[in-house]
Amino acid sequence: QQTQKRHAIEDEIAQLFAPEDDGLRHALQAAKEGGLPEIQINPIQGKLLQVFAAANQSRKILEIGSLAGYSGIWLARALPADGRLISLELEPRHAEVIRASFAHAGLADRTEVRVGNALDLLPGLQAAAPFDLIFIDADKAGYPQYLEWAIKLSRPGSIIIADNCVRDGRVFTASPDMDADTAGLVKYNQLTREHPRLTTIVLANDNDYTDGFNVAVVK
Ligand code: SAM
Repeated sequence: QQTQKRHAIEDEIAQLFAPEDDGLRHALQAAKEGGLPEIQINPIQGKLLQVFAAANQSRKILEIGSLAGYSGIWLARALPADGRLISLELEPRHAEVIRASFAHAGLADRTEVRVGNALDLLPGLQAAAPFDLIFIDADKAGYPQYLEWAIKLSRPGSIIIADNCVRDGRVFTASPDMDADTAGLVKYNQLTREHPRLTTIVLANDNDYTDGFNVAVVK
């Protein structure tokens, strides 16, 4: 009953503060038709990305792991007309869907999708840096290296947000039998907690409050 009540409250918050527009609904539909996994962020998380982008007046945003462009649309809508979102995506099949969804949402002019392994693409972004906001949501084992790059590609005041940093509480302490994804998330949480240039908090903000964002601000 408690869970039901929480979901009802969350539905109301989403409807009032984070309604999906046609572009977002279209991206979800295109993902479904393309057989892509439904593992995108939720609307409240999308709106939270926009709130953070507005807080530091983001003009350049980097996304690592884009899937079907759902989070990318939330991010790109937070940009001014001359702003830029660069999305890195491993799967060419996903990239096609993302580009079409960005175009359908009217965001083709301020978005760019680069296809490949993020670790190979990140060194090529140094000329475009600093990014004001960096959203990490690709393979979890890679998170510690993505953090290193995110800091390198940022400026004081940049915000680095990573999804899936709660995982039912399994990613706060190391355990001997953890898999590579869990180990990556444990390390990411530890690095962001201890890094002298970051102020960090983790928010359990998915639909069941069992997963959510790690939010770090670069000092
Ligand atoms: N951010 C998306 C959203 O909320 O709409 C969801 C991203 S989904 C959880 C993870 C995506 O990261 C997948 O599309 C996957 O292909 C991509 N990915 C996985 N490993 C990657 C890598 N090494 N480099 C770039 N993208 C990667």
